[in-house]
Amino acid sequence: MGTAFHGLWPTVRLGIITIIFGWSPGADCASGVTDVRFWYGPDKTRLVLELTSAVTYRVFSLEDPERIVIDIDEGQLDQGIGLTKKAGGAVARIRSGRPEPRILRIVLDLQKRSTFHAFLLDPSGSYPHRLVIDLLQRENREEADSSQLDIREEDYLVVIDPGHGGEDPGAVGGSGAYEKDVALGIARRLKRIINWDGRLRAILTRTDDYYVSLRRRVAFSMQRKADVFLSVHADAAQRKTAEGASVYILSTGGASSEMGKWLAQRENAADLAGGVDIGQQDPSLQRTLLDMGLDWKIRESHDLGLALLEALEQVGGLHSQTVGRAGFAVLKAVDIPAVLIETGFMTNPTQEKALQQELTQERIAGAIYRGLSAYCDRDERCPSRTRNESVYVVAPGDSLPLIAARLDVSVADLKKQNPTRSGPLQIGQKLKVPQ
Ligand SMILES: [Zn+2]
Repeated sequence: MGTAFHGLWPTVRLGIITIIFGWSPGADCASGVTDVRFWYGPDKTRLVLELTSAVTYRVFSLEDPERIVIDIDEGQLDQGIGLTKKAGGAVARIRSGRPEPRILRIVLDLQKRSTFHAFLLDPSGSYPHRLVIDLLQRENREEADSSQLDIREEDYLVVIDPGHGGEDPGAVGGSGAYEKDVALGIARRLKRIINWDGRLRAILTRTDDYYVSLRRRVAFSMQRKADVFLSVHADAAQRKTAEGASVYILSTGGASSEMGKWLAQRENAADLAGGVDIGQQDPSLQRTLLDMGLDWKIRESHDLGLALLEALEQVGGLHSQTVGRAGFAVLKAVDIPAVLIETGFMTNPTQEKALQQELTQERIAGAIYRGLSAYCDRDERCPSRTRNESVYVVAPGDSLPLIAARLDVSVADLKKQNPTRSGPLQIGQKLKVPQ
């Protein structure tokens, strides 16, 4: 229990732990807060305030109860922003007030103590000025990462990197579908296929809708000593009829095409849209591997790319028959075979619709797995196939349409091969695969 002072004057005991102060020149006129968004990842809750202009602000934390206070000079909260509905992640409640007439105060009541980091972002793409406050739950980090999977040293580890996320939607389709959601959907399915099969092991660089910086995606695979890096995306083009899948690897020189160059610029801009504090970038992790190993990596990435194109061609058209090359930041810093897969075009209305459907996602994930597996057969670092390919073992959550899509066979053929099967599918049940 506290002292009498505690009861009477709670603020007296409140320790100000950290203050982040940001000042923007010319930010002396009123700035409107036009939108408030929350994103939660395993180790971070992100609050994003959209602003009509840059602002001068202070952020500090208070204890007992734990909270974070954001003061915005000359700030105005737009009418219609229901702050109370916005809480989530590490934040139990969010409210606003005016300690002084010219200061807009936003208070985050926390579930538990979090450290924080705050920064301003300049307008980028369709985004206006933004103030970003990241709440970090450090004790959760190891748990969150390792909860994905037990990884042993001898495992052949595949890092699947769903592009974009959170503040960064990636390409946006004509009907409003986001690349980030398509990428995550396919990546999750691919992870499930790989881990159920058991020959390889897979983990995701992000498991939900939040942004992970390009630097962290790379660091994630380096720390885990991954063997292969697959970044999953969906494309955009001015021409609405552009369609099909493409596979890119890192180029040490220029891009292999104008399209590749433009694409690399777009993908590399993810950190700007996703909201990375440029001042926090660690230059040591930006290294490019220009020493030994690069030739090997490029050669292997190219082989992997060819195997993926061959498999993807079976389940839909290719946009390009050759493995493209461009200077993707996310492929640059990993020292392992790494490819970026554009699974289709968000800007093509037919493909936009299909890419959101679970059977299409499963079909693409299945194809990526077959391509990876074919590449693996030729990679001496990879364990050999142990499973009988003519038998499919039913996994949790499976249905006949899903299995058929994954294996790229028809439901009718699957049924014909397994005529004695009756009743619902059982986990572990063996089905004959139509050849
Ligand atoms: Zn992308």
